[in-house]
Formats: sequence, C-alpha cells, structure tokens
Amino acid sequence: MRDIYQIADRMGLIDASGIRKVFDLAAKMTDPINLSIGQPDFDVPNPVKARAIEAIQSGFNKYTQTQGMAELRDALARQCTQEFGWSGDRDYLVTSGVSGALVLAMLTLVNPGDEVVILDPYFVMYSHLIRLAGGIPIAVDTYDDFQVNPQRIADAITDKTRMLIVNSPANPTGAIMPASVLSDIADIAAKRDLLVVSDEIYLDFCYDEPFASMASYYGNTLLMRGFSKSHAMTGWRIGWVTGPKPILEKMTMLQQYSFVCAPSIVQAAAIEALSCDMSAQVAAYKKKRDMVCETLGKAFDLSRPGGAFYAFPAAPGGDATSFVTEAISRGVLIIPGNVFSARDTHFRISYATTDEKLKEGLDILVDIAS
Ligand code: PLP
Repeated sequence: MRDIYQIADRMGLIDASGIRKVFDLAAKMTDPINLSIGQPDFDVPNPVKARAIEAIQSGFNKYTQTQGMAELRDALARQCTQEFGWSGDRDYLVTSGVSGALVLAMLTLVNPGDEVVILDPYFVMYSHLIRLAGGIPIAVDTYDDFQVNPQRIADAITDKTRMLIVNSPANPTGAIMPASVLSDIADIAAKRDLLVVSDEIYLDFCYDEPFASMASYYGNTLLMRGFSKSHAMTGWRIGWVTGPKPILEKMTMLQQYSFVCAPSIVQAAAIEALSCDMSAQVAAYKKKRDMVCETLGKAFDLSRPGGAFYAFPAAPGGDATSFVTEAISRGVLIIPGNVFSARDTHFRISYATTDEKLKEGLDILVDIAS
C-alpha cells in the first residue's frame, strides 16, 4: 500500500537548520538577547518603502518578465559596467533573494556525484542545496584565522569537481578574501576549468579595506548579490545574479517553472534602493564590530572579522554546544559552530542588534567564559 505521507528520498539528504532550532528556543523565551539573527536591526529606507507602496497603488501587482523588469536589470547592468568595466550585453536574472539564485544555480549546474568545493565554516544553505541537487560538498578547512589558503583549494579539486563557492565578506566568520587570494583562486579555477559562485551578499559591510570581487579576477564567475542585508529587505525576497550567458539562460528557464519571477513591487522598490546611501548604517555596524572585538577579545580567542555582521570566536574548552547551551540558559541566543562546520569548536554571534542589547549580551558571554 502506498504511504500517503511518503516523502521523496531527496529530502533525506537535508535536515532542519540548527539556526531554526535556536529560533524555536527563542520563541519560548521572554525577551532574550538575540545575537543569533542574520538580519540588520535598522529598517528599510523610507524612499524604498514609498516606492513599493506606490507600485502597489499604481497597479504594478502582476507577474513581471521571468528575468526581472527591464528597468531594474538596466540599472544593475549600469552598476556592473561602472564597477567591472563590462559591456552592456550581459544577462542579469533578478531572483527571490540570493537564496533563490543559489537554488537555481545548484539545480541547474550540479549533477549527481559532482563535487562542489566550499570553505569551512560555510553558510548553511550551501551544503544542503548541493546535497539536494545530488552533489557532494567538499569542505576546505579555513580554521583558525578563516583566511583561505588557495593551495588547500587546489588540493581539494578532483576530476569530479564542478565548482567552487566563495563568500566574502563571509557568514559566519566575517572574514574577507583579499584581492591577492581571489586572484590566486582565479588562476586555480582557470587551470581546472571550474565555475566559481561568488556570494557577495555582504559586500557593503566591508570595514577595513575596499571590497574586492571574484568577478574582477575571473570571467567564469556566477556573481550573486542582494538587498536583504544592505537594505534590511530580508522579508522582501530579492536578489540577482549575473554570469556566463548559457548558464543564465538555463537558470532563467528554471525560474520560469519555479519562482516565476521575483515579487513585482519589490523589484520596483529595488531600483530605488540602488541609489540609497547606506553609509551611516554601515558606519554604525563598524562601531558594533569594534565593540565586539574589544569586549570578546578579552576573554575569547577571536579572529578579527573584517566584514558582514558576525564574529566567530572559539568556545572555551573547544566545546561550542556546551557553551551555547549555557549562554542560552543565561538568556543570550548564539549559534554553535557545528551548524556551519564539520567542527564544533567556535560559536557565531550576530551583532546586528542595538548597542544596548549587544553590550548586555557580550558582557554575559565574557562572564560565562571568565
Ligand atoms: N548568502 C549568505 C552568505 C547569507 O548569509 C544569506 C542569508 O543569511 C543569504 C545568502 C540569503 O540571502 P537572501 O535573503 O538574499 O536570500
């Protein structure tokens, strides 16, 4: 007899994110100090909200073209021409967040048995989506300073390697990949005919040096960016991807049969977002980063994060889950390293919260460690 609730085998390849488990715990706590959430505490800029409202009221509520509205794609193309010197004839696909772009990319590009190199610690979605597509995530260790050693990437490449995913500034470590490393990786990828996915969702949060993009060094880069972090538009679901035309064409076809298009009103608002000055928000986050380093640096082994809004200190005694359990019992929500890594020696804090809450939370973490 058929089990009416039978779940497809592929779902056995993924499991509930450890972050969700922390969110569920948080829902049961009264007024926790939440240093677990990967979204800004500032709000969407007013002109962006106004544009979305105007779009709704003027009836811009229908499907757009699958690849996204022309006005937004033209604006993205202008931005890329300025940044990379690219000609105007590249394809741009507007997606439902960078998550949408990642889903489309993995399903479009990864065959069962293909290996995809990722850098450990990594953003959780990468390993799950690679597995969902039937691929095998190959994690290259970047402990303890989370700087990428290109030779280790070269050593991880086999005949089955399909692509490499890089993410700078990185979640969960806040690490930045300097231009010299990107250039070395480009050489390796070119030699081995590898595609590189560059997830640049945190590019605006780069505090100590100018941001360097993989796309400046390697033509076969699938470049992904979004508005969730830079403009606090996490719930609006918009991002975009550009890259080699034959790949973009197939990803667009898959979007047609899945997401259909990114939300129309959000696409209209994203055009406005592109010209918003977010430097005050970024400056405030740089100050929070400094506060985190100063306070946690006293009690933890912490590699100074150069970007994003995370820090990834070592847990006392090298046991992250025990430390996180204790922190949660003291009302501070943080995430154990094993959510993002083969190791469980570090923990992630997100400093995307108010200065007051952040200070309170950091003091408790230092108190536990002392
Ligand atoms: N990539 C990284 C590295 C992230 O940290 C996140 C969200 O936390 C995403 C992608 C997904 O972002 P979006 O909201 O654009 O889907």
